[in-house]
Amino acid sequence: MKTLRLTTSEEDIRKAGELIVCGGLIAFPTETVYGLGADALDQEAVRSVYEAKGRPSDNPMIVHIADAMDLEPLVRNGRASISEDALKLIGTFWPGPLTLVFPKAESVPDATTGGLDTVAIRMPSNETAQRFIRAAGRPIAAPSANLSGKPSPTTAADVLEDMDGRIDGVIMGEQCDVGIESTVLDMTGEVPTILRPGLITREWLEAVLGKEVALDKHLLEEPDHLADPGDGVADEEFAPKSPGMKYVHYSPDAKVTLLEGNDYEFRVKATAIGLEARKHGQRVAVIDYGDDVRGAAHRLFADLREFDRQGYDIILIRTLEESGLGFSVMNRMLKSAGYDVK
Ligand code: AMP
Ligand code: MG
Repeated sequence: MKTLRLTTSEEDIRKAGELIVCGGLIAFPTETVYGLGADALDQEAVRSVYEAKGRPSDNPMIVHIADAMDLEPLVRNGRASISEDALKLIGTFWPGPLTLVFPKAESVPDATTGGLDTVAIRMPSNETAQRFIRAAGRPIAAPSANLSGKPSPTTAADVLEDMDGRIDGVIMGEQCDVGIESTVLDMTGEVPTILRPGLITREWLEAVLGKEVALDKHLLEEPDHLADPGDGVADEEFAPKSPGMKYVHYSPDAKVTLLEGNDYEFRVKATAIGLEARKHGQRVAVIDYGDDVRGAAHRLFADLREFDRQGYDIILIRTLEESGLGFSVMNRMLKSAGYDVK
C-alpha cells in the first residue's frame, strides 16, 4: 500500500476525510501524540487499525470527536449517563488531553472498545485534528500511530518510521505539544478513577470536581505479568480496567534503565554503567531532564526514537519526582524500562 503524505491544506484534509469515509486509515497529529484514525462506527475499518499496528484486539481505542455535542450519541442512554461531574470536566478540559470513559451506545462496535461495554471519548484541541474529524464527518477511533509496543509517535517522521506502507495516509502536521497520551478517566463508577495518567493530573481533576479522584490500583503496583504485544496473549490474572496497561509498552530497541538519585549519585551510576558497557562495545545514551517535567513529557518518546535511530544499545534515564505530571511521565518511563530502576 502506498502511504500518502498529506499536508494540512484544505484540499488534503478533505481527502483525508474522504479516505476515512471509505474505510481507510489516516494518521493525524493531536496535542498528545499522533493518532491512527479510522471510522469509529465501521467495524471493518477499526479491525484494520489493529492489523496495521500489530495490536492485540482486546486493547480498546479512544473515540475522537470535534464537538462536545457529538458525545451524546456514543453514550448508552445519552444525556442520562453523562453526570454533572462529567459535564464539569468537559466544560473545563475539552477540547484537550482528557479522555472520559462512559457506558457505550449500541452503535459503537465491539471492535472499537475491545469488547468492553464502555467507550473512551476525547475531544482533541489540536486544530488539524479537529479539521480532520470534521472533514470525516464522523467519530474517529484512534490509538497511537505506532507499531504496538514501540514508543508513541510525536512527529510525522516517527509515524512514517512505523507505518509507511501499512496505512492510507499521514497528515504531516507539527510535533505534538504535550508528548504523552491523554489522561484516561473512568466515569462509570462511584468515584472517578484515573486509568492512565497524563498532562491533566489527579490534583487538577480533584480541584475542579471538589472531591476525591481515585487512581486505578494497577497504577500503584509494578505488574509482574507483562505480555508481549506481538503475541496478543496477556496474563489472564492481570486484568486492569484499562486493558492497554497489561501489555509491554513504549519500548525502543535499546535497553532502557532508569537511574535514581541526586546529581552526584546519578552521574556515578551512569558512569559505572557506561564504562562496563564500553568493555562490551556497547554505546550508552544518557537522558537527564532535571526538573523540567513538561519538557520530559514533550521529548521522552521523541528522544527514545532518536537514540534508536542513532544505534545506541543502552539508554539511561534519570527518574523524575513522582508527583503531578512527574507521575504521568514516570509511568511511561517505567514501562519503557520494563520497570528496571537502579
Ligand atoms: P492508545 O490509543 O494507544 O493511547 O490506547 C488507548 C488506551 O485507552 C487503551 O490502551 C486503554 O488503556 C484506554 N481505553 C480505551 N478505551 C477504554 C475503555 N473503554 N475503558 C478503559 N480504558 C480504555
Ligand atoms: Mg498507544
